[in-house]
Amino acid sequence: MATIQALRGTKDIFAPEIAYWQQVEAVVRDCLGRAMYQEIRTPIFEQTNLFERGIGEATDVVSKEMYSFTDRGDRPITLRPEGTAGAVRAYIERKLFAQGGTQRLWYTGPMFRYERPQAGRQRQFHQVGVEVLGSADPRADVEVIAIATEILQKLGLKNLTLQLNSVGNGGDRQNYREALVNYLRPFKADLDADSQDRLERNPMRILDSKDQKTQEIAQNAPSILDYLGDASKRHFDQVQASLTALGIDYTLNPCLVRGLDYYTHTAFEIQSSDLGAQATVCGGGRYDGLVAELGGPETPAVGWAIGLERLVILLQQLSAVPPQNLDFYLVSKGEKAEQNAVILAHKLRFAGFSVELDLSGSAFGKQFKRADRSGAIACLVLGEEEAENQQVQLKWLQTKAQETLAQADLLGNIDQWRTKIQQIRS
Ligand code: ATP
Ligand code: MG
Repeated sequence: MATIQALRGTKDIFAPEIAYWQQVEAVVRDCLGRAMYQEIRTPIFEQTNLFERGIGEATDVVSKEMYSFTDRGDRPITLRPEGTAGAVRAYIERKLFAQGGTQRLWYTGPMFRYERPQAGRQRQFHQVGVEVLGSADPRADVEVIAIATEILQKLGLKNLTLQLNSVGNGGDRQNYREALVNYLRPFKADLDADSQDRLERNPMRILDSKDQKTQEIAQNAPSILDYLGDASKRHFDQVQASLTALGIDYTLNPCLVRGLDYYTHTAFEIQSSDLGAQATVCGGGRYDGLVAELGGPETPAVGWAIGLERLVILLQQLSAVPPQNLDFYLVSKGEKAEQNAVILAHKLRFAGFSVELDLSGSAFGKQFKRADRSGAIACLVLGEEEAENQQVQLKWLQTKAQETLAQADLLGNIDQWRTKIQQIRS
């Protein structure tokens, strides 16, 4: 019978790769927890019109990439292609705005886009994202950027650049759009087909076209930064001054735009030079118009999303060996020893150690080989003699040094053993 395979653009994630995912998730949880962001878990599917309105029908995501279907009750449904629309829908539906002040939310989970799969680009992929709702303060923009850089830094990632721009407010953009279209019109025939299409409808999106000829033309286009009004300029100056004060380097990139009306002020991307064509690990910005667009009260907001597949690729490049967390590999042979081993493993785990118990019943030699491969810090050995005397042999796998201990010593001085293990691991 033909075997069934995972769908194109999807994959199973398991050991050893899963260790990198867990590392990313732990760092994300830690950084966002300390900044007092609340996790929000929204449904993986939503009404299709949420995304049409929340992302925009003219975008690639909505026009070409959505997984949409009608369910058995004839409802138009879409697997979420990103997390912001669902988070904002929940914020409005649950009236979180009624609490006043600033709401800081974060989410993580799978997203779905019908794209051509390649390294760092899948049809089911994963994001972590933040949304800060209810603050128009440039310090909110800076906070989210700083948290993104903190996460990437804590993961040990290098060769990252932050690209920064401001798209101003609606009024600024109206003036800019006119200047941009006037500049681009004479080049119309040289633009790629999508960009020609966008010239009158959504000209700012032409600036981030991936087509080389279009990019060359865009290089000399007027800059949005020259069209910012006083308030927008002040906002952007404050963002830049704070980033500088925090020691966060950035490059201004006036071609970094998002064409939709509810995007305002700060736009940014963090890119890695180690990822080839799929270089962007984090994209975000301010979207002061989105909450109202989706039927809520006027609410300023700023956020970002990080693509986790791309982080995992970078972590794998950094260290070929996934992070390990096994403290003890426990081997035993003989009836009494094997019974004792079950109990010792249970007690050590209860005390907070990680323990893998060898259940093979094979000769000690084979069990030792598995201990060596397990990545454990130490191997615990129980033979009939040790079991008889309530002792255990402890073999440090790095130095091969060996000692015989009372089991009570191991279980009675937990902090001391934990410190020792931590020292070896770090
Ligand atoms: P790209 O230009 O790479 O298609 P995007 O502008 O569509 O990116 P966003 O919608 O801003 O991306 O999503 C934020 C991040 O999510 C991206 O920077 C990327 O890291 C990740 N991402 C987006 N689409 C995919 C995908 N199909 N597979 C894996 N990661 C993705
Ligand atoms: Mg995309």
